[in-house]
Amino acid sequence: MTHPGARDLIDPFDRVVRDLRISVTDRCNFRCTYCMPEEGMQWMPRSEILTFEEIERLARICVEHYGFEGIRLTGGEPTIRAHITRLVSKLAALGVDLAMTTNGATLRNLAHDLRQAGLQRINISLDTLDRDKFARMTRRDELANVLEGIAVAKQAGFDRVKINAVVERGTNDDEIVDLARFGRDEGVEVRFIEFMPLDASDAWQRAKVVGQDEIVAAIASEWPIEVVPATGAAPANLWRYLDGGGTVGVIPTVTKPFCGDCDRVRLTADGQFRTCLFATDEFDMREALRAGETDDEIARRIETAVGTKWAGHQINQVHFIRPKRTMSQIGG
Ligand code: SF4
Repeated sequence: MTHPGARDLIDPFDRVVRDLRISVTDRCNFRCTYCMPEEGMQWMPRSEILTFEEIERLARICVEHYGFEGIRLTGGEPTIRAHITRLVSKLAALGVDLAMTTNGATLRNLAHDLRQAGLQRINISLDTLDRDKFARMTRRDELANVLEGIAVAKQAGFDRVKINAVVERGTNDDEIVDLARFGRDEGVEVRFIEFMPLDASDAWQRAKVVGQDEIVAAIASEWPIEVVPATGAAPANLWRYLDGGGTVGVIPTVTKPFCGDCDRVRLTADGQFRTCLFATDEFDMREALRAGETDDEIARRIETAVGTKWAGHQINQVHFIRPKRTMSQIGG
C-alpha cells in the first residue's frame, strides 16, 4: 500500500487490484494483421478522447483511494498521441511504477524524452526480424526504425527494456529461436505472447495459437533453461538461460490463463473502465468526469465496476463472446 489513507480494492475473487492500463489513443501508425484492417479503424472522435487532465485525475483517484502501484500506457500506439511526454510527467508525479507498451517506430526520437519525463519501463513490440515479413505483418516498412528505437531505448536508461512478440502459427513461429537469440544478444527480455481473439478482422483461430509449451520447447532445444519462480501478478512466465544469457518469457493467455492472479483493470481512450481485457461490459468514467462528479463519487464507480469482475476470460469455453472492441480500442 503506497498512499496514506488508501485501502485495498478487492474484487469478488479476493484479488487486489493494483494496476491500471491506460489506452491514451485508439490510433496507430501501424496496421498489424492480428490487430486491425489495412484501412485502419473508424477512429474515435477527438471530443470523446480523455484529456491529459482527465486521465491524470482518474489515475490519481486510483492511487489515492485504492493504493494502485502500477500504470501502463498503451494505445493504439501511445507515442503518436501529441505531447505524450506531458502526460508521462503528470502520471510519474503520482509515484507509481510507470510503464509503456509501444511499437517502437518513433522511439529513436522519443526514448530519452520519455525517460526524462519519468517513464521507468518500456515494452517494445517486435514480432519478426525479417524485413519483408515485418512489412507484411505490420503493413509498414519500419523494421529498421524499430530496431534503432530499441537501441536508443537501451541507451536512455529505462529500468527494463522488454520485447513483446506475438506468435502466430504459419506467420512467425519459425522465428521463435531467432527472436530469443535477439534478446540474448541485445540484453533485452523477450516475451512471447500467445495470439488472442482480439483482432478486428475476426481472423483468430485456435489453430493459429502457438502455446507456451511449444514456444518453450523451441527455446530449450537451443539453450538450457530453468523456470524462474513466479512472483506477484505479472502475466509473463519466465525462464532463465543457464549460461547467463538472461531471461525469456511467455504470456500464455489462451493455453495457460493467469487470471487467478489478475490485478489489472483498464481505461480506454474514450474513458470506459474495463475490468478485463476480454470484458463484454464497461463503465463510463468520461461522463462521470465531465458531469463534475467528486473524486469520492468516481472512486465508488470504480469500486462498483470492480465488484462485477469475473474470475477470468472465457476463451476456452464454448460460450466465449469476443468483446465488441478490438485490441487497438482497448490497449494491451
Ligand atoms: S484475461 Fe482478464 S482476468 Fe484474465 S488476466 Fe487478463 S485482464 Fe485479467
